[in-house]
Amino acid sequence: MLSVSGLTVRYGSVTAVSDVDLSIGDGEVLALLGPSGCGKSTLLRAVAGLEPAEGTVCWDGADLADVPVHRRGFGLVFQDGQLFPHRDVAGNVAFGLRMQGRKSPERVAELLTLVGLAGYESRRVTSLSGGEQQRVALARALAPRPRLLLLDEPLSALDRSMREQLAMDLATLLRAAGTTAMVVTHDHDEAFTLADRVAVMNAGRVNQTGDPAEVWRRPVDEETARFLGCTTFLPGRVANGVLTCEFGAIPLAAPDGAVHVGLRPTALRPAPAGVAGKVTGRVHRHDHVRLVVDAGRAVDAVAEVTNAPSVGDEVTLTLDETGVAIIGP
Ligand code: ADP
Ligand code: MG
Repeated sequence: MLSVSGLTVRYGSVTAVSDVDLSIGDGEVLALLGPSGCGKSTLLRAVAGLEPAEGTVCWDGADLADVPVHRRGFGLVFQDGQLFPHRDVAGNVAFGLRMQGRKSPERVAELLTLVGLAGYESRRVTSLSGGEQQRVALARALAPRPRLLLLDEPLSALDRSMREQLAMDLATLLRAAGTTAMVVTHDHDEAFTLADRVAVMNAGRVNQTGDPAEVWRRPVDEETARFLGCTTFLPGRVANGVLTCEFGAIPLAAPDGAVHVGLRPTALRPAPAGVAGKVTGRVHRHDHVRLVVDAGRAVDAVAEVTNAPSVGDEVTLTLDETGVAIIGP
């Protein structure tokens, strides 16, 4: 198990990572999620031993301060694969095995099957698509059986459809291989697809760690909620398992009392009855239409692609519980 405590990385006057505590249990996949520039890569590099840091990085209780990168037993996968262009696929995957003094065509074949590239041994890596190259990078990192796999935005360089497919494949194969992993990403969908647990980072600090569904429904503060897609904030009240706010009421299992509510655009939808407003903005997204509605104040809403209202239309909005978050520790 990995345990990180008080980890701090400074670059001159910039504190890129600030007093981070984090642990990853055996076989667990932790997603480190946060906006660009918040310190995710720096934290990953410090764990790998690539970046000098204050604080401690331990594996099974043993401090790794004096253990160099290549002796930590950690595997690394970066955004752009960083494959060896002059070696074929098998040569890339076998690299880590050769470093261990092992030569195992069977292990290479096994890994290529795991990542969905069976039979690709003699292909040139330069002839592969971006997604295939990332699969090779993953196979190469997994081949020496690392005790921890560190992935830094492994899917960010791929186009959307490829990214979604590979995220699902990656989730399946990390579980199949029982891999302990830390995946760095700025993309919520990716984090929630891959992770057993999510750590949300901002400005060098980890603000919240928890079960993905819990973090999604219960962001710890407004900053975290904004990063997780909330755009409207308002007071609400819970009584007898029902949350009531100015846009309506939904069931919510929470103690009675006042709450701070965050709404994602998906929390508000045009319906036959509800809070009245006028559409002031409209953008077609891939599978829905995103609206801005003046309902006393500007709020975001979503509509189905078919029959979506136009700018200038009067609408009534109702609350959809899937987009509602309750903010607070
Ligand atoms: P993320 O991966 O979340 O996008 P990074 O860890 O790359 O963020 O960067 C965190 C902060 O540290 C940024 O402000 C970045 O400019 C700074 N930083 C990263 N690497 C260096 C470096 N080698 N020298 C100076 N500043 C750096
Ligand atoms: Mg980064």
